Amino acid sequence: MNGRELLSGLIAPLGLEIRKSETFDRFELYCARLIEKNAVMNLTTITSPDGIYARHFADSLAPAAFLPRPDSLIDVGCGGGFPGIPLKLFFDDSAPGETRLMLLDSTAKKIDFLRELTEEMGLENVEFETRRAEDAARDPALRESFGMAVSRAVTAMPALCELCLPFVRVGGVFSAHKSVRSAEEIESARRAAKALGGAFGNIRGYSLCGADQLIVPVEKKKPSPAEFPRPWARIKKKPL
Ligand code: SAM
Repeated sequence: MNGRELLSGLIAPLGLEIRKSETFDRFELYCARLIEKNAVMNLTTITSPDGIYARHFADSLAPAAFLPRPDSLIDVGCGGGFPGIPLKLFFDDSAPGETRLMLLDSTAKKIDFLRELTEEMGLENVEFETRRAEDAARDPALRESFGMAVSRAVTAMPALCELCLPFVRVGGVFSAHKSVRSAEEIESARRAAKALGGAFGNIRGYSLCGADQLIVPVEKKKPSPAEFPRPWARIKKKPL
């Protein structure tokens, strides 16, 4: 099965469809560059093309099944580009260049790789930040300025709310990728979400290659108080 058939089959149960050949070509290039680069730096433990298509590409697209396309998107702790780049490729398939994507990670080498990759893909409207989220979220140029924040595999849900919600403008949404095994951790974050001006929306479940996963949307209702996010040591020591 080629990448096009594989990805189409994986996202069809989510109600998603990619139409343009150019989009499939971009996913193919992404897969090839990820495997190449992973030989010299640690980007992913999943190294087969089938695994990358399922557990990185299709999984990253889950928020698009449940939430409307935002005008702007920040991926907090994007690592090898997940879920931000697959979402950008998907949104560009129907509305080329319209969604602004900011890729944020504290590791410069990962951001350097993503800069080269997105340039080779010819993606427009992509920006990069090599900074810790808790520092970047206090920057007035970035704070409360995105329609959507996404984050996968970065930290537990209460701390994640503190890192991500300050980036989202009122009326926008923070979408967390979580496993069903994290149900308790997710519930424990309702208080944190509220303290940050957010409220949980409907948690949505989906299944990918036998694994049950969740998209946890946290809707931004009010601006986040200026004291958040706190320095990382405090977030860790005393989660909200
Ligand atoms: N989101 C990607 C994924 O799902 O494959 C990468 C997950 S990786 C396990 C976690 C990433 O978060 C790392 O690249 C790390 O550098 C980044 N990270 C962790 N804490 C961060 C913080 N406070 N600010 C910015 N990046 C952070």
